[in-house]
Amino acid sequence: MLSVSNAQAIILNLVQPLDNQRDTEVVDLLAADSRILATPVTSALDFPHWDNSAMDGYAVRYEDVQHSSAEQPTVLQILEEIPAGYQPKLTIQPGQAARIFTGALMPAGADTVVMQEKTRREENRVFILAAPKPQEFVRHKASFYQAGTQLLPAGIKLNAPEIAVLAAAQCSKLNVYRRPRVAIFSTGDELVTVNESLQSGQIVDSNQYALAALVKECGAEPLLLGIVKDEPVALKQVITHAAAIADIVLSSGGVSVGDYDYVDKILQSLAATIHIQAVDIKPGKPLTVATLPTPSSFLYFGLPGNPASVLVTFWRFVVPTIKKISGIREGWAPVFLKVRSHDELRSDGKRETYLWGKLHLINGVYEFHKASGSHSSGNLINLAQTNALAVLPLGKTLISPQEEVEVLQLIAP
Ligand code: AMP
Ligand code: MG
Repeated sequence: MLSVSNAQAIILNLVQPLDNQRDTEVVDLLAADSRILATPVTSALDFPHWDNSAMDGYAVRYEDVQHSSAEQPTVLQILEEIPAGYQPKLTIQPGQAARIFTGALMPAGADTVVMQEKTRREENRVFILAAPKPQEFVRHKASFYQAGTQLLPAGIKLNAPEIAVLAAAQCSKLNVYRRPRVAIFSTGDELVTVNESLQSGQIVDSNQYALAALVKECGAEPLLLGIVKDEPVALKQVITHAAAIADIVLSSGGVSVGDYDYVDKILQSLAATIHIQAVDIKPGKPLTVATLPTPSSFLYFGLPGNPASVLVTFWRFVVPTIKKISGIREGWAPVFLKVRSHDELRSDGKRETYLWGKLHLINGVYEFHKASGSHSSGNLINLAQTNALAVLPLGKTLISPQEEVEVLQLIAP
């Protein structure tokens, strides 16, 4: 059977990122956080915009003060005071200094700032009590960033630091990728919505709600197509519709080997290429990944029906997919952390096994605590409060308490 890492490679290879011309939109800076930049940003401004002081102190000529000491201070005449935002009027001549404050423009003639703490003031004179280093405490124009070079590359997520940079560069409109569109539907004659009364034998379609929440967490747009009966005609209709409106579709259920599992058959009747039908993963073995002849970029994920399988396969395979579609340039594959396990973790060793639980910070070291209760794929109750999945690789049957385990971090703990 297909290994998890091979399945991931096949899937990422099929994913076509959004187009950096057609699939973009312009947004205001205030609405740009967590969006993906589609066009590199270049600024016409240098950073700093001009030579300025990094300290409250005195702007001086290094030449004048290089031999200063507490015993033999240099005495300079104060020419003017330069607060932040003030345009200096005078040029510092030998024997002169300017009172200066953090962020204020350096006056012509001065090349060094002496911090206030190394000086003594007497009326209009300042005593320099220690020799500074040449050019000390001067932030030079363009020393952080040179106008005209690339400020931010395309394909990055705009978080608070990038937003700060863009604001400083006065970029008020940004070209970002549109959100990927993810169609979601559930299959099963036994399913009802949260609002319908539950008859014997029926269950609530929790997968659709879970998937909508997951898709939104990934910065994509969920398109909910509802519950579809285990009927070939209805399934064919909804898949065709999904392909017309979305970049990917996530269906749940109907991909196993039961008599009512129609998804693969319908895909075949639509001339789809089925790239994956099962993966060596627990939970989540019956997983269908397919492409249709048109549009060729459309990716079909037939997730298993069991609620735990849906979440695990989403975290493991769909999160990287959405990242790559969304225009993020790199870092699609999941990141595993090595942590200590608090509990004994067991698997039959026959499939790569994912156990859900929580990361706790114990004396500065992360520890994985397995969720108590059943880790059956049909149990979703103990998935609540999960923020990590522990992974037991193929062949590994036991991880003892205090042993190291790899975990997939789902949400910042
Ligand atoms: P299936 O693969 O369609 O046989 O589904 C496997 C199991 O998952 C069955 O017990 C279903 O009742 C359950 N299941 C399927 N779809 C959903 C859903 N949307 N929400 C919750 N459970 C589901
Ligand atoms: Mg079903």
